Parts: sequence; C-alpha cells; structure tokens
Amino acid sequence: MSDQFADIIIPVALPGFFTYSIPEAMQPFLCRGSLVTLPFGQSREATGLVVKIHNTPPEGVTVRPIASLLPGEVSLSDRFTEFLLWIADYYMAYPGEVMKAAVPPAEELPGHLMKRRPRKVAAEESIDPVPPSALNSVQQAAHQGITKLFEERGTVLLHGVTSSGKTEIYIHLMKEQMEQGRQVLYMLPEIALTTQIIERLRRHFGPAIGVFHSRLTPAARREVWKRVSEGSLRAVLGVRSSLFLPFSDLGLIIVDEEHDSSYKQYDPAPRYHARDAAMMLSRIHNGKTLLGSATPSLESYHNALTGRYGFVELMTRFGDVMMPEMIIADTRFQAKKKGPEAHFTPGLLQAVAEALGREEQVILFQNRRGFSPFLMCADCGHVPACTNCSVSYTYHKSINRLVCHYCGKSVKVPQECPECGSANISTKGFGTEKIEEEIRLLFPSARVARMDQDTVRNRSAASEILGSFAAGDTDILIGTQMISKGLDFERLTVVGILDADTMMHFPDFRAHERSFQLMEQVSGRAGRRTRRGRVIIQTADPANIILRQVLKHDFRSMCTAQLEERSLFGYPPFTRIIRIALKHRDLEELNHSAARLAENLRRQLGNIVLGPEFPMVMQVQKWYIKTVMIKIGATLSPSKVKEIIRRETEAELRMPRKGLLRVQADVDPQ
Ligand code: ADP
Ligand code: ZN
Ligand code: ZN
Repeated sequence: MSDQFADIIIPVALPGFFTYSIPEAMQPFLCRGSLVTLPFGQSREATGLVVKIHNTPPEGVTVRPIASLLPGEVSLSDRFTEFLLWIADYYMAYPGEVMKAAVPPAEELPGHLMKRRPRKVAAEESIDPVPPSALNSVQQAAHQGITKLFEERGTVLLHGVTSSGKTEIYIHLMKEQMEQGRQVLYMLPEIALTTQIIERLRRHFGPAIGVFHSRLTPAARREVWKRVSEGSLRAVLGVRSSLFLPFSDLGLIIVDEEHDSSYKQYDPAPRYHARDAAMMLSRIHNGKTLLGSATPSLESYHNALTGRYGFVELMTRFGDVMMPEMIIADTRFQAKKKGPEAHFTPGLLQAVAEALGREEQVILFQNRRGFSPFLMCADCGHVPACTNCSVSYTYHKSINRLVCHYCGKSVKVPQECPECGSANISTKGFGTEKIEEEIRLLFPSARVARMDQDTVRNRSAASEILGSFAAGDTDILIGTQMISKGLDFERLTVVGILDADTMMHFPDFRAHERSFQLMEQVSGRAGRRTRRGRVIIQTADPANIILRQVLKHDFRSMCTAQLEERSLFGYPPFTRIIRIALKHRDLEELNHSAARLAENLRRQLGNIVLGPEFPMVMQVQKWYIKTVMIKIGATLSPSKVKEIIRRETEAELRMPRKGLLRVQADVDPQ
C-alpha cells in the first residue's frame, strides 16, 4: 500500500487543516468523516475529523501519524462535513472553531467506552399517539399552499398571525415527512419555548421525537446524538445548535419564530445564523425549509415578496378569536408619582385588577432584568460603572449588589457617591426585579412569578415557572423577552408592556422592526381562546409611528415603510453587512491597528468600508473594542470581499505590536 495522508480538522481556533499520515493498518477503515485521535501540540489525544484522504506528502514538515480511530468507529457523514465547512467559509470562522461547536467532545460521543452507563430514561410510555387535529379550512389552504410551493421552492415563509394555528400545520407537515421515512428538525429560538411545545408534540409523535438544547446533561445529549445518527429519532425539537446533530436524511426543517435574533450566535465563533444555515443544511439534504412567524424578519419578508421564497399567509386566529385590543397608556402625566405605583399607569393597574377579579391571568413585560438599570448621584450625576467594561452597573436588590451585565462582575452598593461624597444616591429606571417587588405590594393576594435570566439559572426553572403559570397556580407573570413569544396559555387575557420607549429609541437600524416584533409578539400571548385579550402599552411617546402600526397590528405597512428606509440607507436586505471587531487592552495600539486595517480594506474595497469607530459599549472585560463595518451591495461578490477581509486581517495580525490583538468577523450581524 502506498503512503496515505489525511487532512484533518482539529477543534482549535487556528486556520486551515492539519495533515497526518495514516498508519497502514488503519487505511482500509478511514474515510472522509472519520473521527480519530491524534497527537497535537502538547496534547497526546486530540480529536480530529478527517476531511480529505490523499497521497501528497506536505512539504517541509515532519508528518505525524494518526493515533487511532475513535472507539466505536464513529464517523460523520459527507453531508455533516459539507455543512461544517460551509459554516466555516460563510461565517468566516476557522474549521476548528466550527468543529468545536458542532462535534461533541470524544467522551460524549456514542460508542466511546463509558465508565458509568447512562441511567435509563424512564421507560418510554407507549401511549398511543394522538392523530393531529383536523385543520380548519384556512389552515388547510395554507397547508396545501406550502406543499405546492415546496414543489418548486426550497424555502417557504409562513406568515401567520399569533394564534392562527401555525403549530398545528407544522404537526401535519412533520407527520407527512416522518411517514415517508425522512427526518424533521423543528427549531425554536429559546429553550424556554421547547418545554411547552414538546408536550404538544409528544402527544402526536411519542418517543419518535427528541429535544435538544445546551442545558441537557451530557448523557442526554449523547442519547440524542446516537439516536439521530442511527435514524431511530425521526424528529428533533431544538435550539440553534441542533443543526449540528448527525442527521442522515433530513426532509424538512421548520424554523419557528424565524425573525428571532436569538438564532444568531454572537460568541464564540462560528457566529452563524441558524435560520440561514438551516436553508443550507436543507439544501445539502435535498430537503425543504419552512420559516414561520407572526412577525417575519424584513429579510425573509422581502425574499417572500420578491419570489425567492414561497409565501403563504394565515391572517385569522384559530377559532376566530379576535386580535387583542391595544391600548396606549400615556406615562407623561405619571412622572411625579412616588412609591410602588410610580411605574404603573392607572389604566394598567385597573386592567390587572379586573383580570384578577375574573380569575384570569396577566403577563407584565419589561425587557430589562435586575432591579434598576443604574444608580445615580442626585448631586453630581455620577453613575457607578464597571471598571472592566464601559457600562453602568445594574442594581440587583435580592443580592444587594451592583452587577455588570457584560462581564458578571459585582460590587457592594456604595453608601455615598464615590465622586462627591453625597449620600443622595439612588436607583434610576426599573427592571423586572423591581416590577415584581412593586406588584407584590400592589396586589398582595396575587400569586406572582418572575421569569428572566436571573430566575432561569438551572435546568428545570423555566419549565417550573411556565408549568405553574399554565396550571393556573400563578396569576401574574413578570418577565423579559423570554416570555414574549410562542407561549400559549388559556386564561391569559391581559398583557402589560411597561416601557415601550427604551426599545423604540434604541440606536440601531433594526430598532423599529425589533420593537414592532416584540410588542406584537408579547401582545399575541393575550386572549388566545375565548375572551378577547387586552394589551396596555406604557409610553411617553404615544404618537410614535411604531406604536401606530402596533395598534393596528399593521405588519405590512411597517414592512413597506422600513424596507423603503433600508433601501435608501443601504441596509439589509439590500446589502450584506460584515462587521469586524478589533480588540486590544491598549487603546493606542487598538486605534493604530484599526485605522491601518480599515485603510488597507478601503484601498481595495472603496467606500463600502465604514469606520473604524467605537461601538456603544467600547470596553468589555478590560478589552477596548473598535469596529469596521463593510456594506456589500448587490453588485459585489460576498465571497470575494470575504477573501480580501481574510487576507488583510491575517496580514494585520502578523504586524509587530505590543500585546495581543484580537480580530473577529461577524457576517450578517444582528
Ligand atoms: P400559532 O402557532 O400560530 O401561535 P397555535 O398552533 O398554537 O398557533 O394555535 C393556537 C391555539 O389554537 C392552540 O391552542 C391550538 O391548540 C388551537 N388550534 C389551532 N389549530 C387547531 C385545530 N385545527 N384544531 C384544534 N385546535 C387548534
Ligand atoms: Zn456625586
Ligand atoms: Zn464588566
């Protein structure tokens, strides 16, 4: 046998592949997709993924041999490998970074010798699956529309208002795929949502459907991995990382709440968008992608209007329940109030009281956790801020500390102003924690719960909070965007949006779209069954155009107006954005590098290169940050631009300098 070599991905943040020789005895067993152990750097047992086998010895280096195949001869399919490489290429990540995100560590892979056998999952009840509910006529039309469009389109957007019965349609489509023997992936943006939907799906699919997300135990993750690769798990409900399960034949991916920005991974790399990656994964499997939302992203809506995606609308609620009544509560006459009532308008308090009186339930939405966003000295205006990050501390009353939401650092609450010594230092603004405290004072007999990142720390907290609300053991649920979408509660009739202004005035080109989506989504939780829901929106800016659109549930006007604006200013979907973040602990070094990189890029790409400038938060964990933005118009090839960015970034990183420079690219940032 001749000498053989393998190009291998190793899960480290370094460019490219690594070449190893293949011991002769291993040659018949090794193929693209094989997982192997090999010596790498200091490590004697790194895991590697084979992407290519060839006869060309690499030049100028001593090649080391692969140590062994992974126990159980675990290998990944060509489709998996192709998808992994596409993610690396499109999102400008190193293949090793994608492997790290996509392939579980060796000891979590099935087939690996385990010291302890996994506990048997409670014997799967073999209840007879309930057939899907019969669709009503509008749902049927939508279902047929989707099926028809799939004949010629890879992707269909289903725009269905909240509670129109989209999930029921998904269930029908899933069943059809599974009956044909193909696999289905149903994606949701957040773990909290999976807990409610899985119960609904289990009724129909029993043990043929599994759940996958980052909070599973290693044993549970391993079980899902194994069953997906064997093909015994026919459907998976999961969050964005479930794209990396070893599917063998994926017929359909459903991306529910497709507009949701949680589908985008921020850190670490790969910074992929699970909705967009899903379309590629479907294509690799010759499958289809269904995007669903009550408030589609402008990108998807635009693609639907221009015919790139199939488009199906479902504009009435199931059972002809009316869309909720939308009420504006003007906070401007409110400013001077003190005490627990300070953050609530009389209209909102009355609606809550009425709902409680009828034994109905209430959701209060405030997109900010903690007690109050900052502390301020009334005399000199000083605001205590994190010394690692350029962000003010958030006050958390339950632990009586100031916490940085960027790095997690916490400090004692100062008794007097560190700047001027005044004792006149007090909290400003309000978060969910404060709302909870005040609501408990105002409605002492109500049963109140709070759902945000602070209360949903462990694995079961989310399902406990939602379970208790669903069972009617909680009257008022207070929460952040975690409670804004997807949830379906029978007795929920009143939704309060406590502060519409902060989101509407957020300085980002997506702020208008985002605040419309958020308000429409959280409103959609109200009155889904019999009684018409009521939504009270508190604002000091009642004439705001966004609110006018929300009041009428007028998604189409919002889109038309926003698309016009995006086109005028050259934002997505009319351009593609790549944002490069440079980070250095030394401000001067950073300024220097950022200016040079931007200059080199500008020389080749011209005025589509913007910046460098400081982002809103310019220092995190002692690292200063500057960003360079590149707006790629329709006439340029994104892959050519990426090539130039890669080259210039590598060149910049090789320049001599004091200290470490980090450069991160974010493709299609959200
Ligand atoms: P969406 O996903 O669009 O928000 P859902 O699928 O959750 O809507 O439907 C809203 C409510 O109506 C749910 O409680 C659901 O059980 C019910 N529903 C929807 N379609 C049907 C149907 N065909 N038969 C019976 N109930 C339905
Ligand atoms: Zn002061
Ligand atoms: Zn910090």
